[in-house]
Amino acid sequence: MKTLDDLLARRLYLGVTGLSRAGKTVFVTSLIHNLLRADPAAEESPLRGFDPFDDGRLVGAVLRHDTNATVPEFPYRKALDALTGESPHWPEPTRGISRIRIDLRFRRAQGLTTSAAARLGLTEGTLQLEIVDYPGEWLVDLPLLGTTFEDWSRAMLAQAERGRRPELAREWRAFVAERTPDSEHDEEWAERAAALYTDYLHACAEARLRFLQPGRFLHPADLRGASVLRFCPLPDLPASPQPGTLHAAFRDKFRDYQEKVVRTFYRRHFAGLDRQIVLVDTLTALNDGPEAFDDMSEALASILHSFRHGRNSLLGWLMGRRISRVMFAATKADHVIRGDRLHLENLTRRMLHVLDESNLIKTAADVDVQAIAAIRATRDTRRTDNGREILLGRRPDDSDETPMEPGAIPLDFPPDWAALNYRYWDFQPRPDPAWRHGGFPNIRLPEVLNFLIGEDLR
Ligand code: GDP
Repeated sequence: MKTLDDLLARRLYLGVTGLSRAGKTVFVTSLIHNLLRADPAAEESPLRGFDPFDDGRLVGAVLRHDTNATVPEFPYRKALDALTGESPHWPEPTRGISRIRIDLRFRRAQGLTTSAAARLGLTEGTLQLEIVDYPGEWLVDLPLLGTTFEDWSRAMLAQAERGRRPELAREWRAFVAERTPDSEHDEEWAERAAALYTDYLHACAEARLRFLQPGRFLHPADLRGASVLRFCPLPDLPASPQPGTLHAAFRDKFRDYQEKVVRTFYRRHFAGLDRQIVLVDTLTALNDGPEAFDDMSEALASILHSFRHGRNSLLGWLMGRRISRVMFAATKADHVIRGDRLHLENLTRRMLHVLDESNLIKTAADVDVQAIAAIRATRDTRRTDNGREILLGRRPDDSDETPMEPGAIPLDFPPDWAALNYRYWDFQPRPDPAWRHGGFPNIRLPEVLNFLIGEDLR
């Protein structure tokens, strides 16, 4: 039976997304673990700086296992064991969508006498925080809703002409050039064309390119093998297709994809979100060089564009109806020296095209950009000889920490690639028993929480 407290509890849906390997699994694990382990008596807490925690209003947190859910539960326990076991390692990344719910018990701030809870004399409340983790690749599909098969084909073929792509697209391009779009439709041919296009997208992903559509070709989840994925861009399309042709069939599949995949995902999951964090792996993009960096920047700017302009555009029906705050967080900030973390933040702002020429932030108050580390695997130190800031971190296969110089984060944009000396080292989690019991050290996780949920714990 539901108690009065249950009835008054608020449910808040927080979306966590980011392109593959951006740090979603690590972020959700650290967020949950740190909330579960919040100890107001601890001298040093990883949540210090989270206002409801500092003010003593956060009473406790519990995980709720929702047995009715039709979506897989986020594998928190497994990820925690990987990070805090005998030989700590990064957890397996999640694929597709997953959810997890954590209930936060809090003391209500005094003076909110108008709320129903206060009138009933309830001094404590519960926030049911439902975290929805899904691939950023699915968000890159959002602009597909505003385009036609013909325009999309042209854009994708033009994209396939740039940089390393022609090489990767060769087999697919040769195959689709064999038949004209007005040839009779043939499902077997369609399947082969789609398979080659999917191979091309995978090869791009391998080459660290990120602006890849349609996202489900790469991360099909429950749609693996489904016929709705049996199409691809076609060259030399006339404005309107004749019935029964390849062109007509591919256009219909594209429309099915728009309706049954893109729109359905947004209706079922996305439209219900209240807050959103988009994790951005600026550092690996920097490490991967100019083409990967520009491509990721384009993908992210298109995501941001959807968030910012969705309200007044054709996407208005699904965007912004509920999402009231969006944060873009540059992850793995523990990979750069302390003095460079602000530079990482600024570089990410620029990547998102939210800093204009005079460095003014163009985002609205409800969009924020931060540099964070959900789990801080390194420690700041200085070289003994010249006093320069460096990092202490554990490299793969090493048991001890080594002093490392990651190089500097560029201040200019686009970066001066010839002068760039930044290097991404694959630092591993530290074997520290305090992590399991006291929570994960981090960079700016409390500030992220203040922005996303601080006001809901009042
Ligand atoms: P996902 O694919 O978005 O779920 O990405 P993961 O959360 O699995 O992260 C991918 C990899 O990035 C991890 O295996 C780590 O190597 C690294 N990583 C993610 N978050 C952090 C962090 O906070 N600090 C550090 N040092 N590395 C991180």
